[in-house]
Formats: sequence, C-alpha cells, structure tokens
Amino acid sequence: MVVRGAVQGVGFRPFVYRLAKELTLRGWVVNSAQGVCIEVEAAPDRLAEFARRLPLEKPVRAIIQSCETSHLDPLGCDAFQIRESTDHGDKSALILPDIATCEDCLREVFDPRDRRFRYPFTNCTNCGPRFSIIETLPYDRANTAMKNFAMCADCAAEYRDPANRRFHAEPTACPRCGPQLQFWDSLGKVLACADAALRHAAEAIRTGKILALKGLGGFQLLVDARNAAAVQRLRDRKHRAEKPFAVMFPTPEQAGADCEISELEEGLLTSPEAPIVLLQRTQRTKGSPLLGGEGRVRAIPDAVAPGNPNLGAMLPYTPLHHLLLRELDFPVVATSGNLSDEPICIDEHEALARLGDIADGFLVHDRPIVRHVDDSIVRVIHEREMLLRRARGYAPLPITLRHPQPMVLALGAHLKNAVALSVERNVFVSQHIGDLATKQAHDAFTRSVADLPRLYETRPEVIAHDLNPDYLSTKHASQLPGRKAPVQHHWAHIASCMAENEVEPPLLGVAWDGTGYGVDGTIWGGEFFLVEENSCRRFAHLRTFGLPGGDTAVKEPRRSALGLLYEIFGDELWEQSDLLTSFSSAELRPLSRMLMRRINSPATSSAGRLFDGVAALARIRDRSTFEGQAAMELEFAIEPDTEESYTFSLGDGSPIVIDWEPALRALIEDRRRNMSAGRIAARFHNMLADVVVALAQRAAKAQVVLSGGCFQNRYLTERVIEQLRANGFQPFWQQRIPPNDGGIALGQVYLATSAMRELT
Ligand code: ZN
Ligand code: ZN
Ligand code: FE
Repeated sequence: MVVRGAVQGVGFRPFVYRLAKELTLRGWVVNSAQGVCIEVEAAPDRLAEFARRLPLEKPVRAIIQSCETSHLDPLGCDAFQIRESTDHGDKSALILPDIATCEDCLREVFDPRDRRFRYPFTNCTNCGPRFSIIETLPYDRANTAMKNFAMCADCAAEYRDPANRRFHAEPTACPRCGPQLQFWDSLGKVLACADAALRHAAEAIRTGKILALKGLGGFQLLVDARNAAAVQRLRDRKHRAEKPFAVMFPTPEQAGADCEISELEEGLLTSPEAPIVLLQRTQRTKGSPLLGGEGRVRAIPDAVAPGNPNLGAMLPYTPLHHLLLRELDFPVVATSGNLSDEPICIDEHEALARLGDIADGFLVHDRPIVRHVDDSIVRVIHEREMLLRRARGYAPLPITLRHPQPMVLALGAHLKNAVALSVERNVFVSQHIGDLATKQAHDAFTRSVADLPRLYETRPEVIAHDLNPDYLSTKHASQLPGRKAPVQHHWAHIASCMAENEVEPPLLGVAWDGTGYGVDGTIWGGEFFLVEENSCRRFAHLRTFGLPGGDTAVKEPRRSALGLLYEIFGDELWEQSDLLTSFSSAELRPLSRMLMRRINSPATSSAGRLFDGVAALARIRDRSTFEGQAAMELEFAIEPDTEESYTFSLGDGSPIVIDWEPALRALIEDRRRNMSAGRIAARFHNMLADVVVALAQRAAKAQVVLSGGCFQNRYLTERVIEQLRANGFQPFWQQRIPPNDGGIALGQVYLATSAMRELT
C-alpha cells in the first residue's frame, strides 16, 4: 500500500505501527520519496479492517491524498517493523510546513521536573520545524539541519519507542544533545549561553533595546511594543517610516486588551499555523484614553501602527518565543529581520553584518535555517480567512488541480514574489520571497527558483513568467532551460483564483491592482476578462489616465490625482487652483509639462492608482511611505452605513471603457463643499461595487472571479460579494493563496500549458 500526501513528519509511521500491532498484522512501514509505503500480512478480514481504519484514525496533521493498494504473495514476516527510509523513485511526498509548538511540548517546557524544562528547541511528531530545516526528501534526520546533532541515549530511546510521542520525530532534541542558545552583543561577542542567554535577551528588551532573534524561519527584530520611543528607534534604524509592525502577545487574553477578536480570528491565532492575524484595534473610550472596552487597558501605542485601526497580532509559536514572552509578560513588536524591502536574514553571521546597525543584541543558536520562511499574514473577509502573505505554517503545502499538469516552473511577479512548481496535480507555491528590487531579494529569488525543482528532483518542461520584458524574473526565465510561456499579469491573477477555487469557465474575471504590464503597452490594473471554455479576452477596463513621472506616482498619490484631473479638464486644469493645492508652483511646472506633451506620463487603467488619486483628492494622503498606504487609509476613512454612491458610465466599444469622469466631477463638488473624507470614501467604494455588478450584468456570466491586490480591501471585497449575490451572481475570491502578487505564480502555472493562455 502506498500512501501519498502530507504523511512524513506527522507521526504517520508510529500510527501505522500501533494500528498494525493492535490488529496483529505482520509486515513493515517505510518513508519513501513518494510518501509512506506499507506492507502487511494477515487474514483478509483484518487487512480490510486495517485499510478502513487507516484514513479514519490518521494523525491530525496528516493529509492523505491517495492510498494505492496492491496484493502480493505473503513473504512470511514474523513481526511488524518500521524500516529505514528508501530514497529512490520520483519525489512526490508532501513536505510539511513548520508547525507551532503543541500543548504537550509546552507543558514539558514549563515543568521543572521534566528533562526538557526551559529547553527552547523542544518538539515532537506533532509540532516543530519542518520546511525550514529540510535539505532533501525523504524527511529523515540525516536530510535536515539536525544531522550534526547526535541524539543522546534518552532522546534515542524515545525516538525508537513506538509508543512515544517522539517516535521518529526527526528534529527531536534535549538540552543535553540538541542546539543551544547564545546571546551576542552587536559586534558578535558572546555574552551568555543557554538559559542565561535567554534571560539576557529578555533583560535587553525590558530596558528598551532592540533584539535580533534567530527564530524558526529567519531573524526577527523584537522590541517592547509598549515603549513608543523604542518602537520609534526601530523605525528609524530599519528605515521603515509608517508601515505597521506586527505584535506578538504572550497570551490571547493580552491580545484581547488591544484588539477585538472574533471566534474565527481566535481560532486562527491559536492554530498550528499560528499566523499574524490582522485584527481590529479596540476603540479608545472617552475620558479614559487607555481603556479599551470594558475596562481593558490598551498597551500598544500608535507608533506601532500609525493611524491604523488594525493591528497584526500573533502568539508565540516556538518554545523559544514562549519562554521569552513568558519571561517578559508584555507584548513585543516582532518584525522581520531585514532592512525595508530586503528578504529576511537566516544566518547569524550574515545577520551580524546586515542587522548590526539595527539591533543592540542578538539571541542566536546553532540549528541552521535551511531556507527563509517569513511569518504568514491572514485576515478575515466575509467570515473566511484570506492569506495576505503565505509563508510559515502554510508553504509549501500544494494547491491540488483537477487535472495533472506537465511540469511547469512559474517565476511569479516582481513585487511580493513567490514561485511555483507543478508536479502532476499538485502545485507547490513557494513561501513569500518579497520584492525583487534589491540584490539580496534577487539572490533569495534565484535560490528559491532552484530550490523547488531540486527538492522534488524534477526538470521543469515549461517556464512561465510575466509578460514584462524588464522584470528581473523575465530575464531570469530566459536563462533557464525549457519552453517559455509568458502570461499577462492580470490574467494570471484571475487564473490563480480559478485554480484555487476549482472554477471552470465560462466566467467573468475582475482583476484590480496597482500595476501590471498590458498587452497593448499601457499599464493595466482595472481589468475585466471574459473567460470562455478555450479563450479569454479583455472585456472591459477603467478609462486610462496619464501618470506624470511614471513609477514615481506610486509614492505620490497626488500625482495620480493630477493625472485624473488632467484627463478630465485638459489644459483648463491649470486655472482651477483649488484642485492643485498639494503642489508648489515649482513642483507643478515640470509635471504639467509632462502631461501636456505626453512624455514620461504612461497611460494606465490601474484601479490602485485610481484609489490613490481619490485619496489625494479627498485630502487623505498626498505622499505614501509604503505600497498601498493611501488606498488603505481611504478604506479606513469610510463612514459606516453610507449607502450613497458616485455614478459612472459604460462605453459601447469593445473592450468596454468604464468612465469614472462623472464620479470624479461629483467628488470635486463634494470637496468644494468640504464634505468629510469619510463620506467621499464611502461613495467611491460603493461606486466600485456598482461597477462590478454592472459589468457582471453586461457579461451575463453567472460566475464572477475576483482577484488582485485591491481585493485585500475588506470593505470593497465584502460589498462586492454581497451585491453580486444579491443580483444573482456567484462570486469567488481567494483564501489560501493571496489575491495580491503573491498569487501570480499559481496563475502562471495554471495557464502555462493551456489553450487559453494568450489573450484574444
Ligand atoms: Zn510537540
Ligand atoms: Zn537528548
Ligand atoms: Fe498584481
């Protein structure tokens, strides 16, 4: 019997052993590169019983994708045993993600009588590192970062005892035989070891210092989240002006003082994946500025997430984090150990060089991190989870397609990059890699591109990549062997959502985001696609406008506003001085010249830039310090329970042009009447939902697929879903794969060998 799926590193063999013993079967079980292979001998009724109970009673974390049974002549085994792994054959066993510390291990870590008391690397078959320590399949200690740690007699006995929770727990260790902590100063001098190192690190945080912690999948920077000055120091040193930081709370109760937590959200926080969950912060009540709700004391100052009604919260997910947070008993900022836009650091010596100017101290250890895995980020939209960053806890579990694919390697997008590899029906989407703007990010990308095919020992036949010839990923594609399959960015967004939800055409796809290379040389981002059985065409798009200064406009929403206004008013704009107040005359001169002569002002149909322009016109934000900031603030500003909506018009041509001019003219009137930004924001969002419904009616397809970064916007997404349903349509959106550019690679795989890849 060959069992395929996530069956290695979850206590599957011990489970099989116990079940076989119970049924007095003879034979053996072994980990193979395809999964788990079992041979049993017994009377037919007991074999049938074994086959029936196996999938029913499997370990909680195991995922069985298939169970193939074949009958052989009996060999005359005299017992049941677990055999050494074999590593021949195709590698298709699923690699498990890293799993948060289980209750049993946690109890041991805090039990003074246990031999693992206060040991930060405690784990068992139900929890601990997996993806971050695997070098190659099959999943055996010799193929992990634990290979250089020889087990002591006690650990070896547990490892060999089928009745033990650590039976074949590959990364198992104890204070006597496993990895150890060290505390370093910012120059790498060892100041303390083992438990003393942990206490040293806690003291550093307590006194407002910045700690670099070698965590599970990379370095994190930790600082006392209650200490506004310390948080500000971290911002200054990390060059991260306003982008929100995530916070790790010691307990769910402490998180509850600062955030509203629904049952679903609490379930996510305490899940084995243990992601960062975007939560709504509690409201400050009048008169008692520090009280949130019923006498709860808010601990987190505004500097952690300036002007943001949400907070990214997580709970400790390794014994090391549990020990540290128990010691501190207060929340800490826990952000990735990098300079802005660079990938997370995984090696302590590299960290010293890259983070030496940021951190005051380093808490490190000697268990190598094989590959970087960031903390995942999830939020709840329409009572379902939506992954915004997919990494620890989720990657590299595959998305399973309906039909097997030729082997495709997809290189993803330029921002929020992730790559993907298909092996038959499984698509393995890598962990979040990041923006391919820096040298470090490009190196991490190159490593990940080589990593997936190496792990699964495949030679991809097709390389899927973006259409944009200037992307680093596109250039990288040309250096790889295999047939190339360029895929348009927004079509990849829709295909990603189709693949995840197993939706088949016909359907209408709505792809709204910031930027993507269009087939006509303009920048796309407000797109509708009509997807039929074997074809896809651009059905509609937002009216285009010029972006003065091109990419610079991403950082300056006021430039998008200027482009929109110029599209409406032409040269008459320069007389309407009340609309130009966010520019000095010296700033305006070159920008007006660009727009009038149509130089360095690429045309775009981007919904993201439309959001930016509206945010600037609503006087919410003229300049952004991080991607998506203006659009986020426009969402946060929405006045609740406003049902009013701006109007728009639809053209008669093909593709249909969605004209936002009536909306913008009304918005300008609202601005002149000093209407609140909140009401303007509501009217604008409501109009966008109306646009989707109107186009769905024109397309007359029951299924509507939503993707692209704009659908991270909770208000927009929920309103679109509700209105589509109210009008008889069936909406689909992304949950396990991000709707942002982190989902592009899956869409590229899906389309790479499809007849509908090229837009018609
Ligand atoms: Zn455990
Ligand atoms: Zn040991
Ligand atoms: Fe995109």
